[in-house]
Amino acid sequence: MIRLPAKESSLWMASAVAPAYPTLQESIEVDDVIIGGGIAGLTSAYLLKQAGRKVAVLEQGKVGSGTTGHTTGKVTSSHNVTYQRLVERFGTKYAQIYGHANETAIKLIEKIVEAENIDCNWERADNYIYTEKPEEVQMLYREAHVANKLGLPATFEKEIPELPLWIEGAVKFKNQAKIHSQKYLLALAKTVHGKGSFVFEQTKAKKVHEGKKIYVKANKSVVNAKNIIIATNVPFPLVAHGLYCALEYPQKSYIIAVKTKLELPGMFITPGRPLTSLLPIKHEGEKLLLVGGESHILGLAGNTQRRYQHLADYAELRLAATEVIHYWSARDYLAYDSVPLIGKLYPWSKHTYVATAFMKWGLTSATVAGMLLSDTILGKTNSWDYVFNSNRISPVKAIPYVFAKHVGLIH
Ligand SMILES: Cc1cc2nc3c(=O)[nH]c(=O)nc-3n(C[C@H](O)[C@H](O)[C@H](O)COP(=O)(O)OP(=O)(O)OC[C@H]3O[C@@H](n4cnc5c(N)ncnc54)[C@H](O)[C@@H]3O)c2cc1C
Repeated sequence: MIRLPAKESSLWMASAVAPAYPTLQESIEVDDVIIGGGIAGLTSAYLLKQAGRKVAVLEQGKVGSGTTGHTTGKVTSSHNVTYQRLVERFGTKYAQIYGHANETAIKLIEKIVEAENIDCNWERADNYIYTEKPEEVQMLYREAHVANKLGLPATFEKEIPELPLWIEGAVKFKNQAKIHSQKYLLALAKTVHGKGSFVFEQTKAKKVHEGKKIYVKANKSVVNAKNIIIATNVPFPLVAHGLYCALEYPQKSYIIAVKTKLELPGMFITPGRPLTSLLPIKHEGEKLLLVGGESHILGLAGNTQRRYQHLADYAELRLAATEVIHYWSARDYLAYDSVPLIGKLYPWSKHTYVATAFMKWGLTSATVAGMLLSDTILGKTNSWDYVFNSNRISPVKAIPYVFAKHVGLIH
């Protein structure tokens, strides 16, 4: 049995040198204040600054210390079995926009990596949803067919010759990507800070106000602005938090980084339970495999060490793992109707925006949020708001479905 290292730590956080940003100590004025130094907040800040605006990012801890620094690292528009469900629930046009937005996000990240010359292990790779169960093949076949018809780079594969695992079938999304998310995020922060724009760390926003004046209070100081973006993974003012509980719920997932001689020809995930996510990476000259899974609704963890050990046992038995190098976990929010919530905080908000419920696919979805919110603030038309509208009621309607799924009444 392979053992876990003594301490839990994210490989991404441990392998990126993070500079310290100042703490907010006096009141300031900027065009846009962004709360949260994860990928949603920093992408929004980066794009707004690129458009000539002065921005301030307020982060309660360190940049990336939330979910983004504890992610897996897949950058893909293939969000497990998604497209057939989007088409069934919302129609073809809706699913098309969702797919297009996420493919555009991949291109934007690549463009930023190139433009800013960011060393973040960016690499194009194919993504597969694979199954070992004959009863799941039809669903994957349909997913490939639907996604392909929507214009996405999807095909159904009966076998993957270079894959050292037995499979019954897979959906392949060509030319997706992987990334060292923390190095990417730190580079975004470095670009944002300076020339009248700021990144503040150890700066916890306590109050947001939209009235005659628009401001955020933090560290006994005030940031006055024209717009506020709340990119705190889950909205933080208490009222908003309560309201958004009716639209989204938190899930925790676990990752281990292992040494193995197995080489996988891409990024892999299973569609059903138990969900297994596999990402081969290069780390300090060594090939490692990230193995993720064991997801559960936050608060229903049971014994978390046992969850990590399950992953380690699986990796040893099925993936020839010989050693666990790092292990970590994080939570992300999921909208009950499976589509992120990006837009106005409340239906009556004019200058306060939110970006949340990235469904554990936030490397692309939060980049979509950055594009959509910056376009909105800049007064540019963006048709994606029709899909991601944060004030829609479809998540509320989907609550019984999600609960029925979680208690095993439906599959
Ligand atoms: C285990 C796991 C694996 C994943 N793997 C993938 C993957 O492979 N590909 C993918 O696309 N997605 C993946 N995801 C999802 C993705 O990582 C997240 O959707 C994304 O990182 C969320 O970014 P964010 O900016 O919303 O949140 P965060 O990164 O959590 O950023 C929010 C920030 O806000 C700060 N904050 C909170 N409250 C305040 C306050 N009051 N004042 C100031 N700051 C505040 C927090 O400290 C935090 O840093 C994964 C998620 C999990 C849990």
